[in-house]
Amino acid sequence: MSFVRSVLSPLRDPEPAIDPSREPNAHATPARVKVLYIAGYGRSGTTLLDIALGEHPAVMGGGEIATLARHVWANDEYCACGASVRACPVWREIVTDWRAGEPPTLIDDYRRAQERTETILGLGRIAERWRGDAHAARTVKLLRAVVARSARPVVVDSSKLPGRALALAAMEGIELFVVHVVRDPRGVAWSLNKAIKRQVDKGVQRELRPKPLAYTALRWSIVNLATEWLCRRVGPGRHVRVRYEEFVADPPATLARILTLVGERPVPSVLGAPMVPQHQVAGSRHRMQSAITIASDERWKTAMPRLRRWWVTLLTAPLLRRYGYALGVPAEDES
Ligand SMILES: [Zn+2]
Repeated sequence: MSFVRSVLSPLRDPEPAIDPSREPNAHATPARVKVLYIAGYGRSGTTLLDIALGEHPAVMGGGEIATLARHVWANDEYCACGASVRACPVWREIVTDWRAGEPPTLIDDYRRAQERTETILGLGRIAERWRGDAHAARTVKLLRAVVARSARPVVVDSSKLPGRALALAAMEGIELFVVHVVRDPRGVAWSLNKAIKRQVDKGVQRELRPKPLAYTALRWSIVNLATEWLCRRVGPGRHVRVRYEEFVADPPATLARILTLVGERPVPSVLGAPMVPQHQVAGSRHRMQSAITIASDERWKTAMPRLRRWWVTLLTAPLLRRYGYALGVPAEDES
């Protein structure tokens, strides 16, 4: 098991914290909003990557922004800063900007439009364009408010599912980049095979029941294939594939690849500095920790019964090979 003491933590002291109380900065809102979308399956380190990227002074780690209108705002769920989202000094101001000039039903309307448009097949997106695409205008307005209130030109959206990114890719006001995060499906399936109790203030909004291994294995394959389709849609030079195992083994190298993709200069890492989650609006429960050190989670290699490992291997074999994972059950020193 590898263990990484520190990650890219650029200029933590000189970099001022996000101050949303100041007026939005017009210079921070270019013609198109630069969105870095983290796509992939759950339990693959997507929230961890969001937090790590948010350490860069040009990047706002927004968390799973798709959930803001779906349930986070309505339920007043917790932001990574520790405040509920309606009390969070950043998201409160972002939503105030977003609501300006909109009907009181904005959030419900937006949620319904998300259900129509953020799908793989995209039929809802075609219908939405035919209606004049108010949803695109509202999405750009929301993301522009995120840029303005954070004064950071790159917004990370780690909503994971490729359907939302396909919708974003079709919006003219958005310059979309995609990070396709892949993790060994045996680690994913083992992690999701365990129950997690509801702990609202710890970022777990509802009890998470164990997912059957076959269910996870098949969905993992579908989501990753759909993400590959997404990467083809955004085109060359707009996406990068990251393996979870490589990210946790060498965070600065992975972050440098991603930052280069969006045109930002990687800055030197500061050894020994844990990450401090900022305002990830939703994501894994790890975002509620006050300080995070990146460490790989390879417990499945010793804890997962051999037969179950082979079952997941069998169901995911074609993509396992494609993403460079050994079909044989890896020994502890492999990754
Ligand atoms: Zn917050």
